[in-house]
Amino acid sequence: KAELLLHYQPKLDIAAGQVRQAEALLRWQHPTLGMVSPGEFIPLAERTGSIQLLTAWVIEEVLRQLREWAGRGLRVQVSLNISTDDLIDPQLPARVSKLLAEYQVPAEQLIFEITESGVMLNPEVALQVLHGLRACGISLSVDDFGTGYSSLAQLKRMPVQELKIDQSFIRDLDDASEDSVIVRSTIEMSHSLGLKVVAEGVEFERSLQLLGRWQCDTAQGYLISRPLNAMAF
Ligand code: C2E
Ligand code: CA
Ligand code: CA
Repeated sequence: KAELLLHYQPKLDIAAGQVRQAEALLRWQHPTLGMVSPGEFIPLAERTGSIQLLTAWVIEEVLRQLREWAGRGLRVQVSLNISTDDLIDPQLPARVSKLLAEYQVPAEQLIFEITESGVMLNPEVALQVLHGLRACGISLSVDDFGTGYSSLAQLKRMPVQELKIDQSFIRDLDDASEDSVIVRSTIEMSHSLGLKVVAEGVEFERSLQLLGRWQCDTAQGYLISRPLNAMAF
């Protein structure tokens, strides 16, 4: 497990111009292959049934880091990624709750990012797990929104507080493009549903300006910062 580490990508509060949040992203430093991208090993872990072990490690490592930062007076809210298979485990809320107490981290400092397809595999159990996590005080976010089978009916049933617009809509954001219509209406819809909106994959100043004008809450992307190791963050 010593080869695993987390990087933290800043999430910018656009209106305040401040970073108080980050997304934890898993990294695998392989002794001979070098840095292996999660895009390669996460799907493998999912196929071989070992993703729950990885997720358990990520949750505990985030809590350890939050505890360490708290000791230095830093209060950061961290998002982490949860897989489909994690959502079919009815024990997840109880396990996380125990760890929160152990590390003395307020549940409000955690956001779990889920995908809609992850919920659709087994909606009964997944919704039960999500409500359990909410009951602990953990926030929930819908990742990669706009890809796959996004459905408003499904969104309404999920106890989520945040929605992340997929990078594919953000990359070439421009006043007159089709993407801009999608992004603007997603922001409006989310706000009417009481959700915060994060734009992912913000690479250009111009996109950030447009997002600010459209009252998007949060921006994440290389323009603000690449994912960083904990020390650099
Ligand atoms: P994701 O959750 O959608 O994470 C965002 C990905 O976009 C990250 O890639 C991040 O480095 C990258 N990114 C951020 N800003 C920009 C930008 O401005 N431009 C571009 N081109 N890319 C940007 P990363 O770290 O390689 O992770 C890939 C995927 O692997 C993640 O997508 C997520 O689905 C998965 N993943 C990462 N860490 C974990 C984990 O701890 N658990 C699980 N289950 N999945 C993870
Ligand atoms: Ca994510
Ligand atoms: Ca995403």
